[in-house]
Amino acid sequence: MLKGKAALVTGSTSGIGLGIAEAFAKEGAHIVLNGLGRPDDIEALRARIAGEFRVTVRYDGADMTRPDTIESMMRKAVAEFGAVDVLVNNAGIQHVAPVDEFPPEQWNAIIAINLVASFHTIRLALPAMKKRKWGRIINIASAHALVASPYKSAYVAAKHGVAGLTKAVALEVAEQGITVNAICPGYVRTPLVEKQIPDTAKARGITEEQVVRDVLLAAQSTRQFVTIGQVASLARYLASDDAASITGAILPVDGGWTAH
Ligand code: NAD
Repeated sequence: MLKGKAALVTGSTSGIGLGIAEAFAKEGAHIVLNGLGRPDDIEALRARIAGEFRVTVRYDGADMTRPDTIESMMRKAVAEFGAVDVLVNNAGIQHVAPVDEFPPEQWNAIIAINLVASFHTIRLALPAMKKRKWGRIINIASAHALVASPYKSAYVAAKHGVAGLTKAVALEVAEQGITVNAICPGYVRTPLVEKQIPDTAKARGITEEQVVRDVLLAAQSTRQFVTIGQVASLARYLASDDAASITGAILPVDGGWTAH
């Protein structure tokens, strides 16, 4: 379905981004991986995806806090493939703390990686998409793009920002064959979530088991974690021609969390 197209997924060395990159490679897309990690592990990942799905897989270590490295990654990808046909803004970090104790450098990093980086990738991807009159931009936001939780002020602000960016850009490019949507997962058991369990326990003065039961899964009516595969399936659909009329949409995959 995506045969011959090029997809760039930020933050695809782990978790949801990796799942989306693999789902797109399975559909025949060439892939640009991005994210942090040990060089040996990343090379093994790159080679495995390329071998398994017989597509070109590149890796670019652009740091999403640095517009200069984002710019060079996007320019290289457009030069090699002619366009980044499918752009997935997925890289993200989290920090959990009361707002009056929130370290300013963590606030800045969360806004830079979870929100500002998407502005840069989008502005650099659009000219080639417009030339091809086809493009798909998929922003991995969060249920926190729609509702808030305490102690996550930077993340909630960034993700609400992503929802606004998604809608504004969708309107700008709607007549040019380009769709822009946001996927809003509930809790998915990735390293990002594992890391925040002890911090949330500390911030709320409860045990880690209570965090999983009474904080994370309490929000989701299904009482189940969302799976990476479920998020990747929606991304694959949004990237398809069948989804041409879905744009500017903020789509929850959250087990009923935001229905409350
Ligand atoms: P993860 O920690 O498994 O993956 C995050 C990815 O971002 C990694 O590849 C990491 O290397 C990369 N990254 C972090 N800082 C970076 C930087 N400075 N430059 C480049 N890459 C960087 O987390 P995940 O849960 O898979 O999260 C992926 C996205 O999904 C994030 O935007 C997150 O906010 C969102 N999300 C996750 C959940 C969840 O419950 N896991 C829920 C809703 C939304």
